[in-house]
Amino acid sequence: MAEIAIIGSGSAGALAAWRLRQVLGGEARIAVFEREPQVGGRARHIQFAGELGELGGTLIHTDNRRLVELARDVAVELAERRVSVPAGDGSLLLWDGRAAVFKAPMDGVRLPLALIRRYGPLNLLKLRKLAVAAKSAWNSVYALQDAGRVFERPDDLIAAAGLEPYVKTSLAELAGQHGVKGQLIDQFATGVLRDMYNQTAAVIALAGLVGLAGAGLAGGKLVAAPQGNSTLLAKALAKAGAEVRLGSRVDGIGRRDGKPTVSTPDGESKAFDAVIVAAPLELAGIAVTGPDGPVKTDVGRRFQDVHTTVVAGAVRPSFFGAGAVPGDVLTTDSPAAEFKAFGQTGHSRALGVPIW
Ligand SMILES: Cc1cc2nc3c(=O)[nH]c(=O)nc-3n(C[C@H](O)[C@H](O)[C@H](O)COP(=O)(O)OP(=O)(O)OC[C@H]3O[C@@H](n4cnc5c(N)ncnc54)[C@H](O)[C@@H]3O)c2cc1C
Repeated sequence: MAEIAIIGSGSAGALAAWRLRQVLGGEARIAVFEREPQVGGRARHIQFAGELGELGGTLIHTDNRRLVELARDVAVELAERRVSVPAGDGSLLLWDGRAAVFKAPMDGVRLPLALIRRYGPLNLLKLRKLAVAAKSAWNSVYALQDAGRVFERPDDLIAAAGLEPYVKTSLAELAGQHGVKGQLIDQFATGVLRDMYNQTAAVIALAGLVGLAGAGLAGGKLVAAPQGNSTLLAKALAKAGAEVRLGSRVDGIGRRDGKPTVSTPDGESKAFDAVIVAAPLELAGIAVTGPDGPVKTDVGRRFQDVHTTVVAGAVRPSFFGAGAVPGDVLTTDSPAAEFKAFGQTGHSRALGVPIW
């Protein structure tokens, strides 16, 4: 029986375990090493003021076919997350740290109309067309997976999925090449990308367009697991029958008798038939030795810390200028903007106040 190690129990590791079980049936033993005391990685929630609050991965786009399949498989009903008692006026505000850049009611009709009025119908159409094309190239990954295609390197997968045009240039450049003009990219698109990744339109076009598609520019809905998204991942691991080793940090991947080994700081080392690293290598602290010797794990990608602050209480309406408190706030890439995004995430029944 094949023995497979997965390092990391975030969405990548949990879905890898679940898929492997589907593909290999009972023919594999799957061990998941997780250095934290809980599963989920960057999908993590807390109980705050008596309510559930997501700190990381919050919304699942319905085009994320595997997560949607997984939810069905483990009987979790994904649902749109609605605030039971809205405290704001239901608008979306784009804020530069001092004043409103743009404000519109946040519904499926009035928001697009307001965007068309501000940025022009052609600009929006062109950006939407780009987001739809990137999304459909991205989604072709599922057909490749279903056909059992295997790729030696990420670049091979990118080529097979037709994603090359989106990885060679930034969102701002690609949008410019496709005739998107004016401030749609610098203002609205940047606000969305700051909210999602703390990035600007200088981000790689693939990430930018997937982000914009995720924000609704290319259809689909945003849903979540009612008990917290990490519970979905815990169920994936359980369904996979994986042996999950919590609090188990891996510090080395080596080779013994032609097989990869996984070692932990207590000096233990075990050979597997395959090892899947489902964690950012630069941050995982794993020394990797491949068949040809040490493998460089720091390929120069830069990471950033993201802080999520959860507060229960009232917001002073005058903070955002005149008028009521907005429902959601995006920010432009301005030094005056002290946060990247702000919004109501719930309502504390226990305290009778909104949660932001
Ligand atoms: C604030 C925030 C909001 C977000 N919102 C959304 C959203 O709304 N929608 C969305 O789709 N995405 C969102 N994301 C992104 C999403 O959360 C991540 O893309 C996803 O969770 C990453 O999963 P992963 O498995 O690749 O990595 P991770 O979740 O980081 O998992 C890696 C795991 O590996 C473990 N690990 C690392 N090193 C070792 C080691 N040496 N030994 C053992 N274990 C190790 C870590 O502890 C971790 O559990 C958000 C992210 C953040 C931070």
